[in-house]
Amino acid sequence: MHFDTRAIHAGYDPFAHFGAVNPPVFLSSTFAQSSPGQHQGYEYARSGNPTRAALEGVLASLEEGEHACAFSSGLGATDSIIKLLNAGDHVVMADDVYGGTFRIFDKTFKRFGVDFTMVDTTVAANVERAITPKTKMLFIESPSNPLLKISDIEALCTIARARKVISVVDNTFATPYLQQPLNLGADIVMHSATKYLGGHSDVVMGAAITRDANLAQQIKFNQNASGAVPGFLDCYLVHRGIKTLGVRMERACDNAEQIVSFLTEHKRVSRIYYPALDKHPNQAVAARQMRRFGAMIGFEIDGTVADGVRVVSGRRFWTLGESLGGVESLLEHPASMTHASIPPELRKKAGLNDGLIRLSCGIEAADDLIADLDEGLASY
Ligand SMILES: *Cc1c(COP(=O)(O)O)cnc(C)c1O
Repeated sequence: MHFDTRAIHAGYDPFAHFGAVNPPVFLSSTFAQSSPGQHQGYEYARSGNPTRAALEGVLASLEEGEHACAFSSGLGATDSIIKLLNAGDHVVMADDVYGGTFRIFDKTFKRFGVDFTMVDTTVAANVERAITPKTKMLFIESPSNPLLKISDIEALCTIARARKVISVVDNTFATPYLQQPLNLGADIVMHSATKYLGGHSDVVMGAAITRDANLAQQIKFNQNASGAVPGFLDCYLVHRGIKTLGVRMERACDNAEQIVSFLTEHKRVSRIYYPALDKHPNQAVAARQMRRFGAMIGFEIDGTVADGVRVVSGRRFWTLGESLGGVESLLEHPASMTHASIPPELRKKAGLNDGLIRLSCGIEAADDLIADLDEGLASY
């Protein structure tokens, strides 16, 4: 079955629910038992619920995994994944993972004895070198945020497997429509379903998907033990969002390509970060492991923080905001928003210049988005 067909039909049988074409939202925290332990698959809804199970079915199918676990947020999923580890274990992590991922390792799990090393994972040899006998997990993200760096998922997961290290790929930016890390050798894929999977900026949710029954069982145990479970209605909303994932991604990628062409021609734009560009250092890897190059773009103007603020403020169609992956286009200015807490010198060292702007292309008409961006670029 093709991806777009699975997005509509996997994980749910209407005839198990009176023919209802959509999975019913089961607003039940507990399920009746005929005698102790005798029930129809569900007992208490922290452990599971039919609406969540339907969503997990489609998630497993789209990532070509066997087991999926939906969480209350992307970080909820990350939390249960890290809890596969024990005190004394070591993690090798990409040096530009999502800020919240860095924070949970650095501020929470380090206190419990899980150590980590950050490396530039765009060069596979860096990962090979960072693995020690204590290393039990590799945590990567590709494309990364906000510089759209690309790591060779297959090469990195091969290294991890040879050293018996669990490989985890945050696939939030690409979605399973563009890239399927389990097929590239990853052990676990995680998502912030808040972004493209939900797709409408109306829900916060996460997911973890794997083919390994043992890992799946431990992740589910950790989730049930800690409680980061998604709400019933939220499961329905993400399931509904997933049905249009393919069409939304195609349109958003079309828009991104047109916007990149516009930016390439614009004299006030000094640099563009987009994996399709020949100048991108891992363009060939992106072309190999992704169906298309995604709908996230970074670009720089040669200006100050204040200039960047001017470009992003007061746009008509580009909503100024910190998330991504919705039907509406969003933009943000890392130096004054997502990365403002990093001291200016450290920001510069990480390649996050004052004039850097991040775009999440939505599915509006490209001409309107381009005209609005053009106005913004004329305003400083
Ligand atoms: C947003 C995001 C997360 C965290 O997910 P939440 O749903 O906000 O908890 C993790 N990784 C990436 C790449 C993200 O963009």
